[in-house]
Amino acid sequence: MRSATPKRGTRSPLQLARPDSVDAAVAALEDGAVAVSGGTELVPLLREGLIGADRLVDVSAVVPRGVDGRTIGAGTTLAELEADPQVPAALREACRLAASPQLRNMGTIGGNLLQATRCWYWRLALPCYLHGGDVCHAKQGQHREHAFFGNENCASAHPSDPAAALLALDERIRTDRRELGLSELYRLPTDDDRATTTLAPGELILELDVPETESSVYLKAMDRKRWAFALVGVAAARAGGETRIALSGAAPVPWLLDSPDALDAATPLPGTAYKVEIARALIPRALASL
Ligand SMILES: Cc1cc2nc3c(=O)[nH]c(=O)nc-3n(C[C@H](O)[C@H](O)[C@H](O)COP(=O)(O)OP(=O)(O)OC[C@H]3O[C@@H](n4cnc5c(N)ncnc54)[C@H](O)[C@@H]3O)c2cc1C
Ligand code: SF4
Repeated sequence: MRSATPKRGTRSPLQLARPDSVDAAVAALEDGAVAVSGGTELVPLLREGLIGADRLVDVSAVVPRGVDGRTIGAGTTLAELEADPQVPAALREACRLAASPQLRNMGTIGGNLLQATRCWYWRLALPCYLHGGDVCHAKQGQHREHAFFGNENCASAHPSDPAAALLALDERIRTDRRELGLSELYRLPTDDDRATTTLAPGELILELDVPETESSVYLKAMDRKRWAFALVGVAAARAGGETRIALSGAAPVPWLLDSPDALDAATPLPGTAYKVEIARALIPRALASL
């Protein structure tokens, strides 16, 4: 999701378009309109003035929904994914452990991949680095839920469980204009561009293609057993003799680890060092269960 300048206090009437084809949806998304699927993420952000939009485009009728072998429609809900035996175990488990049953019934996998950071400074609309400012408030302030990799400019921790699973599964994405690997969907924010995804404005995610996998797993450490974001999530997948490991809750974007030893290169903040130890404990468990 692209970060917008906080617009607290400004309210304008919203228009809603309901296009009946992908082409019509893409056309309707020109000029700053915003796509909405389940609305579980977007509506609170609009309500809080964290993103601004005059027009919403409901894409739920045009983005594919459902699972067909290894192809997953981006409009498929997390609840549908967690229950479908065609879906690799890591992704099923990541969906099952995400959010609440009500949110999983509404929330789509496309929207989940594009959810904004849960960093409380960002959610309070403070003018931090990710909002376009100069400072990461988390580094100086409270940051126990923040990052231990990729945190040079912004120390937020990516909240998506399914994204880590899909990164370990080496999944590919089809949008209305290109195909890309999941790792190419994300980028670390930089001085000249604070976005954390590479999606162009108005670009729609349509389908995910999950390669054949021999075995996969997702483990999630949380502050409580249900309905909590990952302190650390570990996804592992084995295919063709290779094992891929990916982390959620570790960096501003889903994080691929070259090997368990790559944890030695972590750059924890004082308050996130404990997360490295959680990852050290979870990774061998994940690999053993593959
Ligand atoms: C209280 C709470 C707890 C949560 N806990 C977890 C958790 O533990 N783990 C976890 O992984 N997630 C968690 N989530 C996130 C939740 O899973 C997402 O809100 C949900 O999956 C988003 O899907 P949606 O269809 O509602 O997206 P929307 O709200 O409709 O959209 C979200 C964003 O994606 C864009 N978008 C939607 N669909 C597309 C598309 N096809 N192409 C391009 N852009 C698109 C929208 O423009 C918007 O920017 C939580 C959310 C809440 C509110
Ligand atoms: S972690 Fe990122 S989102 Fe949070 S205050 Fe720092 S720059 Fe802003």
